[in-house]
Amino acid sequence: MTINLLDFDAKNLTGFCGEIGEKPFRAKQLLRWIHQSGEADFDDMSNLAKVLREKLSATAVVKPPEVISEHISTDGTRKWLMNVGSGNGIEAVFIPESRRSTLCISSQVGCALACTFCSTGRQGFNRNLGVAEIIGQLWWANKALATTKEEVVPENNSISEIKQVRPAEHNYKVSNVVMMGMGEPLANFENVVSALDLMLDDNAYGLSRRRVTVSTSGLVPAIDRLSERCPVALAVSLHAPNDMLRDELVPINKKYPLKELLAACQRYLKTAPRNFITFEYIMLAGINDSISQARELVKLVKDTPCKFNLIPFNPFPNSGYKCSSSEAIRQFRDVLMQAGLISTVRKTRGDDIDAACGQLAGRVLDRTRRTNQGVMEVAS
Ligand code: SAH
Ligand code: SF4
Repeated sequence: MTINLLDFDAKNLTGFCGEIGEKPFRAKQLLRWIHQSGEADFDDMSNLAKVLREKLSATAVVKPPEVISEHISTDGTRKWLMNVGSGNGIEAVFIPESRRSTLCISSQVGCALACTFCSTGRQGFNRNLGVAEIIGQLWWANKALATTKEEVVPENNSISEIKQVRPAEHNYKVSNVVMMGMGEPLANFENVVSALDLMLDDNAYGLSRRRVTVSTSGLVPAIDRLSERCPVALAVSLHAPNDMLRDELVPINKKYPLKELLAACQRYLKTAPRNFITFEYIMLAGINDSISQARELVKLVKDTPCKFNLIPFNPFPNSGYKCSSSEAIRQFRDVLMQAGLISTVRKTRGDDIDAACGQLAGRVLDRTRRTNQGVMEVAS
């Protein structure tokens, strides 16, 4: 089988170089070519000896997932749908802002955790993404962004013309990565950690730990392992102020209830690159958005240094939920802020291309492990 060098973090690439009789510094050169220059063709890696290039061409490839479509929003947000085989697709979204630009990437095809408000969860689980498929989203985004032409304002708003839009005030290099696309990153632990290592490696993407965020629905043992293996910024999807409601919305809560989850957050802070945990809280009308629930939430997190990110629910067909009104969100936020909890309301970006949180549906076919109960054994 042909080896895909995008599957290797620095350690594995060094091991591979050893196996083909090459010195460790070749691994560094290869990392730079592949991840910094976005080079996929060994023949163009000019500082590698010809013999080595031939050896590499005979045994290996640099193969990111194939991009099937690209959508570019009028606000500069871009979404790529990528083919990961067997009719399955994943999505990655680039969100440019003036001070930072964030790439939101996927970790699995579908998700087994079946949160009731999540379109990915509704589709069931197909499989974990490989390292090449995870890091390939960043590889591709950097390449696509580097080759975008300067701003051309579309005359007729057709997609092909919108492709050229590049609002000048935005920053077009990926400065932050959030693992908030499809899937539960901590349920695909080893591959996600290898991809994170590449994001942080100075010979690859060189991102700071503070600018790489793993978002989890709360797999407690894996939170502990992440703090040992690769402590990056942590976002925890809380969504409810008590176990009764969280059991319903985020079924993995039955396995790892709030008390255990918050204790894991406290432990994580010992090695975390930031001195707070980000709690994500989706705003669902009449479900979790009352003033009394906000007060309950304040009590729940009183011992955990944290910030809140309130996420307006993004609807999808037959979701059965409605987004809270902006007034309800404002009042909820006020309760948190008055208690000293920094809380932001997530702006919706890329509305015109369905690029918002929870709308990264991709395509999940062959749902081999769909659960009825929602709670299932996940590798932890
Ligand atoms: N599995 C991880 C990361 C992917 S989901 C997690 O659950 O944290 C990323 C974020 O999108 C989570 O906070 C999730 O709760 C939120 N989300 C899911 N569906 C959503 C929807 N329909 N509208 C708004 N946010 C949603
Ligand atoms: Fe999975 Fe996260 Fe969606 Fe829950 S919210 S089903 S954990 S992707």
